[in-house]
Amino acid sequence: MSKKKIFESKESSQKQQVLEQTIQYEKKIYDLEQLLDIAKSFCQNLDFSNLLESIVYICMAQMHVLGAEIFVRDLITNENFILETSKDFLSENKVMLPVSTPIATVLNKEKRPLTFEELKKSCGDCPHISILESLNPTLIVPLIQKNHLNGMLILQERIAIEDDATYSEYEINQIMSIAGLASVAINNAALLEMSSTDMMTHLKLKYYFFNLLTEAIDAAFLNKQHVAVIMFDIDFFKKFNDTYGHECGDFVLKSVADLIRKNLRESDVASRYGGEEFTCLLMEAGKDEAMVVAERIRSTINEHDFVYNDQHLHVTISGGISVFDAETNLVSSPNEFVNQADQGLYMSKNNGRNRVTYFDPKSKAALKAANAKK
Ligand code: GH3
Ligand code: MG
Ligand code: MG
Repeated sequence: MSKKKIFESKESSQKQQVLEQTIQYEKKIYDLEQLLDIAKSFCQNLDFSNLLESIVYICMAQMHVLGAEIFVRDLITNENFILETSKDFLSENKVMLPVSTPIATVLNKEKRPLTFEELKKSCGDCPHISILESLNPTLIVPLIQKNHLNGMLILQERIAIEDDATYSEYEINQIMSIAGLASVAINNAALLEMSSTDMMTHLKLKYYFFNLLTEAIDAAFLNKQHVAVIMFDIDFFKKFNDTYGHECGDFVLKSVADLIRKNLRESDVASRYGGEEFTCLLMEAGKDEAMVVAERIRSTINEHDFVYNDQHLHVTISGGISVFDAETNLVSSPNEFVNQADQGLYMSKNNGRNRVTYFDPKSKAALKAANAKK
């Protein structure tokens, strides 16, 4: 081969190398930009279930899998990892793994994603592996925060690329970066969830309810929509405590809270407003819708068989409803809005309890009473 040809072939292979490196760097830059976007989206999302949903979708898109699930350590009891992304997430029979499971020990030690086969091999005949297996995992990614295993991300069926369903080293590094961001975001959202939640009833606390209510009123005003508030109060609860004891009273409070939650849509929010008072925020609900929901909750509780220590107990609640409407009921503050529902509740109590009353903004007497209460 002539010197010129040798030179030309060297030059073309160098060019080829530069081209390949450029493509690789471009892909890295693209992936890093994506990672920045992912970080931004995780940081902005402080709602626990929305965040988990967004992590699932991002992982599905980035890792070419048909599904993903997330186990999160229960920060309250610290006893289990709970499958928080299960479709049946309101069910009482949540899928759980105890924190002491060998699966967690292995992931904590390895601190890297493991294929299901690798995990199975390392865990021996651990009884919890079948729980994991039922989710059809292909890759199990530890969610580590400050050296603690806070959860596990389960990647499910993989979409094979050119007949290859294995994860490349590059992809493993990528999912570890995403998992690192996800663990921090999950931890922050879980802390907010905990600090805004009443630990006894697992309903939202009053201050959080007011934050949501303020936003809901603003949105309803802008979009010319309705939003409703129902306030409930358990009837003769003092007497109930005196007769059956506080522990039984606590059991009733938890059960009533559960029944209220089960009768609401996912977009609605229930809070424990005070001792035995509850509020519900119904998005885009007018008078008729709010009456139906309130009546359904009232009758569910009236018909419910509360069983405590083999005793069958009958409990009733009273309710008041107020509906925001920019034209007919333009409230000046969230406080005024809740006061109106409270006024409805007051009427229910006065008229014999175990009923719900709509606060009619047109009713002069009602308005006068609400003003007098302020
Ligand atoms: P009404 O029908 O007019 O609402 O009568 P009531 O007895 O329910 O009303 P009142 O406000 O006098 O009593 C509320 C009771 O709720 C008093 C309090 O002991 C009880 N309570 C508040 N918080 C708790 C709690 O966390 N656990 C239990 N067991 N009782 C609670
Ligand atoms: Mg009360
Ligand atoms: Mg009461």
